[in-house]
Amino acid sequence: MTGTDAAGARPPVLELQSVHKRFGEQAVLRGIDLVVAPHEVVVLIGASGSGKSTLLKTVNLLEQVDDGRILLSGEDITDPRTNADAVRARIGVVFQHYNLFPHMSVLDNVTLAARQVARTPRAEAEATGLALLTRIGLAEKAGEYPDRLSGGQQQRVAIARAIATDPELLLLDEITSALDPQLVGEVLDLVRELKAAGSTIVMATHEMSFARRVADRVVYMKDGVVVEAGAPEQIFGDPQRAETREFLSRLQ
Ligand code: ADP
Ligand code: MG
Repeated sequence: MTGTDAAGARPPVLELQSVHKRFGEQAVLRGIDLVVAPHEVVVLIGASGSGKSTLLKTVNLLEQVDDGRILLSGEDITDPRTNADAVRARIGVVFQHYNLFPHMSVLDNVTLAARQVARTPRAEAEATGLALLTRIGLAEKAGEYPDRLSGGQQQRVAIARAIATDPELLLLDEITSALDPQLVGEVLDLVRELKAAGSTIVMATHEMSFARRVADRVVYMKDGVVVEAGAPEQIFGDPQRAETREFLSRLQ
């Protein structure tokens, strides 16, 4: 459901309302509020263990929230009656480690969801898939298996696969963390292109210079709470909270 509200404005693509998540005794998300507008790029930063991946997983319904609500384009996806597969079909996800199916060609990887979930005919899915591969500069790799590609190329294909069904929201979790430094740029360049094309993205990353250049909003998390959120110029240039200053100074 991608309706409009009473005033006719589009609802936020994503809204987290006081989201709580525990693993046993450990409270990992402790009341997260976050609103992501259409076409917005929100970058989550914070130390390892601060809850970034868990937050992204609750949005993709890979983890259940204990309390609070998550709305996707205005629809409460934490409602127990929600069809998780239908929600996941509306969200593109890329993780740190290569997510490609090793036994399938690059083109089959990119078209799989369109063929199986969206039930697009193969010829149509392949035309779309080839256009996507052309867009990311990897059309000549369409028939290759993933292990013939560099890590950066594989992550670009993973991104192409995530956007192949035109999702409402893209979740990117440390997608460059496993890459050799010289391969990071090509992947982040692709994310920048997606932003320019109007994608709505929530992304966890350690690439602070990228966050600074590409984020519309930076969210600093610590111990399961949002300590501070704001424009990159504010968070990196004039952080208001001592914890934020301390985190950023340790990165220098
Ligand atoms: P980040 O992505 O910011 O590094 P995570 O969301 O991965 O943080 O982890 C937050 C905390 O939750 C960590 O202490 C981690 O050990 C714990 N955690 C994450 N997933 C699980 C799980 N499935 N079971 C138990 N603890 C978990
Ligand atoms: Mg993580």
